Amino acid sequence: MAQARKGKLNYRCPCCFMRDIDMDMFYDAEKGEYYCLRCQFTGTEQEVLEGNERVRQKYGAMYRRFTDFEDFTEF
Ligand SMILES: [Zn+2]
Repeated sequence: MAQARKGKLNYRCPCCFMRDIDMDMFYDAEKGEYYCLRCQFTGTEQEVLEGNERVRQKYGAMYRRFTDFEDFTEF
């Protein structure tokens, strides 16, 4: 049985991210698919990237603000 582990990159689950939940996906090396433990979303790397891209367009401004906030906390 394949062990659940993180992929080489930490991808967000696009379905959870749509609902304002920041959930890292796990990678199934046997199927070559990423999957989410929270909402049962599974998809190839390509599908995850496309999903995240759609969310990013929706929440583009929010993304930038979050980054600025992180920079601000370092001062
Ligand atoms: Zn999910």
